[in-house]
Amino acid sequence: MSRKKSVAAFAHAKELIPGGVNSPARAFGAVGGEPVFIHRAEGAYVYDIDGNRYIDYIGSWGPMILGHRHPEVVDALERALARGTSFGAPTEAESELAGLIIEAIPSVQKVRLVNSGTEATMSAVRLARACTGRDAVIKFAGNYHGHVDSLLVAAGSSAATLAVPNSPGVTQGTVQDTLVLPYNDPEALEAAFQEHGQRIAAVIVEPVAGNMGCVQAQADFREALRGMTQEYGALLIFDEVMTGFRVAYGGAQALLGIQPDLTTLGKIIGGGLPVGAYGGRAEIMDHVLPAGKVFQAGTLSGNPLAAAAGIATLEVLRDTNPYDRLEHLAARLATGLEQAALGAGIPCTLNRVGSMMTLFFNPGPVTDWQTASRSDTRRFARYFWGLLDRGIYMPCSQFEALFVSTAHSEDDIDATVEAASEVLATMG
Ligand SMILES: *Cc1c(COP(=O)(O)O)cnc(C)c1O
Repeated sequence: MSRKKSVAAFAHAKELIPGGVNSPARAFGAVGGEPVFIHRAEGAYVYDIDGNRYIDYIGSWGPMILGHRHPEVVDALERALARGTSFGAPTEAESELAGLIIEAIPSVQKVRLVNSGTEATMSAVRLARACTGRDAVIKFAGNYHGHVDSLLVAAGSSAATLAVPNSPGVTQGTVQDTLVLPYNDPEALEAAFQEHGQRIAAVIVEPVAGNMGCVQAQADFREALRGMTQEYGALLIFDEVMTGFRVAYGGAQALLGIQPDLTTLGKIIGGGLPVGAYGGRAEIMDHVLPAGKVFQAGTLSGNPLAAAAGIATLEVLRDTNPYDRLEHLAARLATGLEQAALGAGIPCTLNRVGSMMTLFFNPGPVTDWQTASRSDTRRFARYFWGLLDRGIYMPCSQFEALFVSTAHSEDDIDATVEAASEVLATMG
């Protein structure tokens, strides 16, 4: 498989854009080598500029749960485009998208649309601090909440693989109110509340972590999250930018049966266009300007094209309820990958929640950043490149989750397992 044009395009991009990419995870830095430049995508497939086709398990890092160019999303975008791209004034589409979110997620009574997951978490933390009159925020090692300064400590994902848990430029002053705790450790959470309880405005957490690879919050940890925040009057923020409408239509909170105080969303709710959102009980959300005093704004927030793509995506998900089928396809893939690795004598742990999963090259169990980080990332890199050369486009880091979409067929899944078996058999 030749990728000559991608190699040339990357060399050119590096002269113009830092590292040649507009988001670091895309650079293939964690697996060594040069990224594939995409020309177009359709359904479950992406096509690079050299004309190679790949079965896509990145799905734009989460949004493309319906696959690429779903006809109803494309239709909605064309209709919106015909009416104009941005007005900087309210539109009915914004209420429609808000209404779909509120209907799907009972803990959300009011919601504000923004342009990215990062904006959503940044705004939710500001709101939590304003509502409680407290400064400190607890986050968990290996959880990623976008590149908000105060949350860019022990963040997973590209921050983890690039080994910059504290980015230069994030000041000591900014992070001094951020407490970082291990994930899935209820005792550590209780101890932190006993010591700092009166200072803690909020706990922000990925209820199913995707940014250290897929790791689920365990029952005792979930109980401690809800119990401790309630007891000490802190807000519980579920960062569902990845899990919202992914692990269930109502997000991880529906799956796990927990009502957080605030929820952040992104990815799927934009249907492939830039959208984020944060929401919660009306009495909390009404602190946001102009209902209240907490400043938060955005020139392109609630953008008509983004709202149209989001509405179409959520409506298709609501009306077709594809979650059982996603579960079936994802289980088939998970079992296939795990058996292929074990069959080749390679120690591994497969973590999966619905259609998101990670094959860790690590005997496991993988329950937090410490255990995830013991994975054999060199082995992962060989696996990644072997699959890419066989037309399978997996996330380019051990510490990311892959996504199955409704556009994947059983044949796609079986072809993926067959390719993985071939690759893993050479790696034992
Ligand atoms: C992707 C992600 C973010 C950041 O969203 P952006 O749109 O990239 O800013 C925040 N939190 C979680 C859990 C994410 O997966």
